[in-house]
Amino acid sequence: MSNLCTFCKILQKEIPANVVYEDDKVLAFTDIRPAAPTHVLLIPKTHYDSISDVPAGDPILSYMAHCATKIAGQLGLREGYRLVVNVGDNGGQTVYHLHLHLLGGRFMAWPPG
Ligand code: AMP
Ligand code: ZN
Repeated sequence: MSNLCTFCKILQKEIPANVVYEDDKVLAFTDIRPAAPTHVLLIPKTHYDSISDVPAGDPILSYMAHCATKIAGQLGLREGYRLVVNVGDNGGQTVYHLHLHLLGGRFMAWPPG
């Protein structure tokens, strides 16, 4: 077994995933424990432990936002959706590979838990 993180293992196809979008920079797949009717995780193909490890000026975050918009359109989330990035233990982060949650298909209450 490799000691890659869970999402790097998905990128290396060591763990299966239900892929909804892929290009040379990012991969998107459905969350194994969906918190909404649509729950997609969008990850960069480059490993960053969290959003706070992305260097200033790195275009990956704006590219991920662009891809999230495209995926939301493909999935028909015309009435809106929520993008979430959990950061660190108190932020609820459990997988330490930067990822954007794309949640939709129901009304998203505020504030989150
Ligand atoms: P976070 O808590 O923000 O770090 O989010 C990690 C997310 O990854 C959780 O919603 C998990 O359900 C999801 N997750 C963990 N392992 C897998 C996996 N093998 N395939 C798909 N989603 C996963
Ligand atoms: Zn990783």
